[in-house]
Amino acid sequence: RIIAAGHLNWDVTLRVTALPDPDGEAQITEQHRAGGGSAANVASALAGFGLAAGLIGSVGTDQHGRMATRELRTQGVDTDSVVTVEGETTVKYIVVDEAGEVMVLANDGVNEAIGPEAVEPAMVEGADHVHLTGQRPDTAAALIEVANAAGLTVSFDPGRRIEQRAFEPLLDQVDVLLLNEREATAVFPAASGPPIERAASPDRVIVVKRGADGASVYTGDETHHHPGFAVEAVDTTGAGDAFAAGFLAATVGGESFGRPGSGAEPDYERALAVANGSGALTVQAAGARSAPSRVALAAFLAE
Ligand code: ADP
Repeated sequence: RIIAAGHLNWDVTLRVTALPDPDGEAQITEQHRAGGGSAANVASALAGFGLAAGLIGSVGTDQHGRMATRELRTQGVDTDSVVTVEGETTVKYIVVDEAGEVMVLANDGVNEAIGPEAVEPAMVEGADHVHLTGQRPDTAAALIEVANAAGLTVSFDPGRRIEQRAFEPLLDQVDVLLLNEREATAVFPAASGPPIERAASPDRVIVVKRGADGASVYTGDETHHHPGFAVEAVDTTGAGDAFAAGFLAATVGGESFGRPGSGAEPDYERALAVANGSGALTVQAAGARSAPSRVALAAFLAE
């Protein structure tokens, strides 16, 4: 069982003819409403791959919170650790133009209502792995502690928040660190080559997501690269989350998506192919919750 911890939001994706200038107006050509938030996206994608998945997160007492939680439950995600607190669920208005350029508007919602004092061992009971996303650093630290005490492995995809100093001490404490190229460059002097190779070790594997150019895995001993899949990108929202879910499914989850397993050692070549396939299928559809099903991903990888 894999538990994701972090944001659960309600996303309203608006496709527009052009992003409006100040004082301007744009025409909405398509609207899409669904749950979002990095941690919730990962949990949802894992459930779609047929794996047991749970979520630690928070919503408000409004209808958006109820819809977002109900949707996850329908998708098979365990929402026992989703807490409802007084206030508004975080809503993101994601405005995407015809070229795929994105603008995001958000309210000050309650998606970070779980503080370190609320983190309990029961939240990770029965799990094999905990996946952390961008969230309060003190809560992330408490979750790492609880996971370590229970002997679970931990992955961390901090996203944009990586640049906050408070996250720095956590980066050494996780088994797998996932970063995109921009984030990798912010933490290590270069997104590839010696600095990142030196920072990685078998105990702290670093995965660098390279958009349309695929992704790399650094284990300290070895470097693996997969060039990604050439697809037409419609909306890249949630691509990193779908990638993370694919990577975790293929490593921690032992899911091979149609290929016989290769034994106990993680097969990073295969994990990168699976993760890039999951990301590539996600960018072909609108919205953040467009990760493929296990069957669709296996079929895509077999092509
Ligand atoms: P993030 O979304 O976290 O910033 P990336 O932009 O690197 O990270 O995207 C995550 C993954 O999604 C990539 O590693 C790749 O597998 C897939 N992906 C993203 N954009 C494309 C694209 N244009 N074509 C194919 N795959 C893509």
